[in-house]
This record gives sequence, C-alpha cells and structure tokens, in this order.
Amino acid sequence: MTFAIPYARTVPDAVPPVVGAGLPVPLVDGREVPYANLDHAASAPCLRAVRDAVDELLPFYASVHRGAGFASQVSTRVYERARAAVRSFVGARDTDAVVLTRNTTDALNLLARALPKGTSVVVFDTDHHAALLPWRGRLVHRISSVPELEEALTACPTGPRLVVVTGASNVTGELWPVRSVVSTARQHGARVVLDAAQLAPHRPVDVRALDVDYVVLSGHKLYAPFGVGALVGRADWLRAAPPYLAGGGATRLVRDDLTVSWNEGVERHEAGSPNVVGAHALAVACRTIQAWGWESIVAHERAMTERLRTGLAGVPGLRELSLFNGDRVGVVSFAVDGHDPGLLAAALSAEHGIGVRDGAFCAHVATRRLLASAGVPGERALRASLGLGNTVEHVDRLVAALHTLVTDGP
Ligand code: PLP
Repeated sequence: MTFAIPYARTVPDAVPPVVGAGLPVPLVDGREVPYANLDHAASAPCLRAVRDAVDELLPFYASVHRGAGFASQVSTRVYERARAAVRSFVGARDTDAVVLTRNTTDALNLLARALPKGTSVVVFDTDHHAALLPWRGRLVHRISSVPELEEALTACPTGPRLVVVTGASNVTGELWPVRSVVSTARQHGARVVLDAAQLAPHRPVDVRALDVDYVVLSGHKLYAPFGVGALVGRADWLRAAPPYLAGGGATRLVRDDLTVSWNEGVERHEAGSPNVVGAHALAVACRTIQAWGWESIVAHERAMTERLRTGLAGVPGLRELSLFNGDRVGVVSFAVDGHDPGLLAAALSAEHGIGVRDGAFCAHVATRRLLASAGVPGERALRASLGLGNTVEHVDRLVAALHTLVTDGP
C-alpha cells in the first residue's frame, strides 16, 4: 500500500487540475453552461490528485493509534505522514508541533486557549473574524495598520505577547508585510501567528524564512475537502496548556477518581477520533503543490488576476476595494454604483453560470471600512476569487457578464 501521488508533475494549463471544472450548470432560461467557479477564497475545488488519493484510502480508514488491525495500521501511518507533509509544506522547524485541527478557525481558537495567563494579543481589525475574535476576553489591542504595531506593543504590559497577522486578505487578496510585522514583534519580545488560510493556496509559506512562531491553515482552501486544518508552531505553550478538548486520544492515563495524565505531545490537543481521510487529503494537496512547484502556479494566477483587475476596471461604475495597494493573490472585491451586490451575484449565477460571493466576507469591520473609504454606501460587496480551478475564459466571462448586467440591469 503506497498511497503515492497519482498525478503529473507539472500544472496542466489547458485543463484545471480540479474535480468538477467545467461541469455544466443550469441557467434560469433552461440552457446549461460550464460552471465558472470564481469563489476559490471561500472554498477551493478539490484537486483530482486528492480525490484519487482519498478514493484509494477509503477502503482502509480506521481509528488511528488505537488498533492492531491492518486498517488501523494503515490509517495511523497515513495520519502521521499527513502531519509530516504539512510540516514540510510550511517549512516548520524540527521542534515545532503540528496539530491537525478542523480548519483555521479551530486552529486559532486552540491557540487562544493555549496562551499563557496574562498574554497580550495584538490584532489587526481588518482580519477575518477567525483571526479577530478568538482572543476576546483577553488583553487585546486592536490596530488598523502596520505602523500602529510599534505603539501597541509598547503599550502592552510585561508578559507574553502575541501578534496576529494575516498572510493574504480574504477581502482584497493583498499580502500583508509579514516580515516587517515579525521584525517589530521581535523587538518587543512578541510571538507572531500567521493566518495563512488565504496565502497557503497561492504562495509558498515558510515558517523558518518568515520567522513566524505559528502558522494556521485550512484544507478546504487548499484544494482538499472540508474538515481538516492545521496549527503549526512552537511546542512549549501547547505542551503546557490544558487539552483543547477532553476525551480519548488526549489522555495517557485516567484514574478511578477521574484525575487524568494528559499526553504531552500533539495528541494532547487532538482528542476524539481524528479525521484521517481529511488529513490524507490535505497532505496530498500539499505534496502535489510542492511537486508542481510554485513558479507555474503563481505565474498562472498572476496573469489571470491582472486580466481580471484590468477587465473590472473597464466596467462602468465599478470600484475595487483596496487596503494598501499591495501585491495580491487572486482575490478581488468590488462594488458597482447603483447595483445591489446580492442581486448582481444572483444574476451572475442564474444568467451566466458564474459563482462569486457577495456580503461582508466574515470580515465585517474590514469590509465596512473599505467600502467607506471607496465612497460606497452599505456594508456588502462582491468578491471574485481565482485559483487552480480557473482559466482565462472564466475571467473574460465574468467581465463580459458584468458589462451586460450593469448596462441592461440584473
Ligand atoms: N482566515 C482567513 C484569511 C480566511 O479567509 C478564512 C476563511 O475564509 C479563515 C481564516 C477561516 O477559515 P475556516 O473557515 O476554514 O476556518
């Protein structure tokens, strides 16, 4: 049983390497068109390599670390190899813990529970709610921009400090200056956690090169199905913290009086039967992307993103949202004067077979602020987001459809 990667070593450019690309979807007039999924930032479609690998594992999945049977042995091996694949994908230090979680939200909440008493946390209020909210009830300093970090850290009382930074914004796709954040954090003895949910599918994440203390990510944004994510980073706080969940797997010994000796390794925070299939899916996604290399992925996405932004700029009344005009992954949010984002999104789907997102993208503070600074009333916008499931044709269809809808009305 090898569980090899059954896939080519380069990214095929003509056919998206994901499951379901180009499947026909019904339009309101009864026609069918190939689906253009421009909502990768919400959840990316599954890589074919991942689907094939999951298919291969399904007959053998069983409880890990708990059985002598063949299926248990296979599952245990697959699960621990998945941990190793995630470690390698993010370039973690040998001493780092790799905890497999349900998703990024779960990983950040786990870290929040593991913070030593009295830890001050600095968050950017443009963050996704998953990065913004888990620290509530602690000593939290909210800041709006990188230059404010110095002052916020200076104001923190003595004691442990943690800075939360997002790799790529899920609203604008812009890349945060992580190195500069880390450098300021270090001057104040603060640790840094990188929310790589949006970054990891589009750019290499290297814990050692970036010198971040923790990184978190989600499988479903990284071309694997739902239900798995990871928290990777310094082991000490995790080892000292109470288990995230109480239950089997986290325990070494439970005595008759129900006092417990908890595991000291990562199992301490992985109580319950783990998601072996999800972990395998995530691992295969990581290994497949590593095998392809980032160069062709980044080039493909950069070309599509530029084409998308140029095309959108020509749509009458369309305003793109931007945090700081930085380099970005293929996520673009915008509003169109006089058009309700919800109606436009519904019309793009029903009349053109194009999937985009509308709303405030689980980043209410950020979206509100971005709309206000673009001079747009309201609290909702549209978002198109690209990835390996897209071709240039999807981009052109979106731009053409928006021209039609804005001119004729949805
Ligand atoms: N952080 C960012 C930047 C995100 O875009 C998302 C999801 O959209 C999350 C965190 C939360 O990810 P999940 O819903 O997989 O926990």
